[in-house]
Amino acid sequence: MKVTILGSGTNIHPTRAAAGYLFQTDRPILLDFGPRTLSNLLQTGVDRHTIQHLLFTHYHADHFSDFIPFFFDAVCYSRFVTVRPGLSILGPPGTKRLFRTIFRTFPNFSDAPFPVTLKEVQGRSFAIGETRVTPWPMTHSDQQICLGYRLEYQGRSVAFSGDAVASPHLISLCRNVDLAILDCSFAASQPGGAHMHAEECGKVAREAGVKRLVLSHFYQAADRSNVVTQARRFFSGPILKGKDLLSLTV
Ligand SMILES: [Zn+2]
Ligand SMILES: [Zn+2]
Repeated sequence: MKVTILGSGTNIHPTRAAAGYLFQTDRPILLDFGPRTLSNLLQTGVDRHTIQHLLFTHYHADHFSDFIPFFFDAVCYSRFVTVRPGLSILGPPGTKRLFRTIFRTFPNFSDAPFPVTLKEVQGRSFAIGETRVTPWPMTHSDQQICLGYRLEYQGRSVAFSGDAVASPHLISLCRNVDLAILDCSFAASQPGGAHMHAEECGKVAREAGVKRLVLSHFYQAADRSNVVTQARRFFSGPILKGKDLLSLTV
């Protein structure tokens, strides 16, 4: 499978889009849709109108807000073509309430002539085409459930932590994956709450036995520090510092 980072930053960042990832297996799957990731999606060359599956880790705006222009565009576009394929939106508990409110509230959103399905997922695997998807609750926010996701396709596996602190759940999500993309919001010298710093990412990768580690979701202070060196103190496998539009084949 191919994984493209659409956004490796956080909410406000001068040079990076916020959280967003494109998985290409037997179909495109979008995981999170933070601010500025839609522009990067357009640059991948993937036709946005072919995307039928959106997965969300949680609903902090840095993981979600580009859904609004994406969906408005989809409604407008479907006036000019015969049929846009349906859209399936999957996320943690709270997904149905949030999206029903959005569809009721934003002008023209309820006019969508294509089917939209909402599904709340947590803790149980399901299939999207030939891709096995496992959503697993992480530790991040008291106000909502944040999911990490593991995707498996043709014997290859990728885990994405979403926003998370280190936890046994995160380690089991990442167990022996070919690629783990972890929340590295902070530098080890300037840790903060609700997210990991670079050394913790290295520890999780080592403990879970991941084969390759990508650090992502940087605040600017983390971005200025040498996060790869910090993670390497604990993880001896290959480590990449994520950047927008970095594409990896797994
Ligand atoms: Zn968050
Ligand atoms: Zn975030």
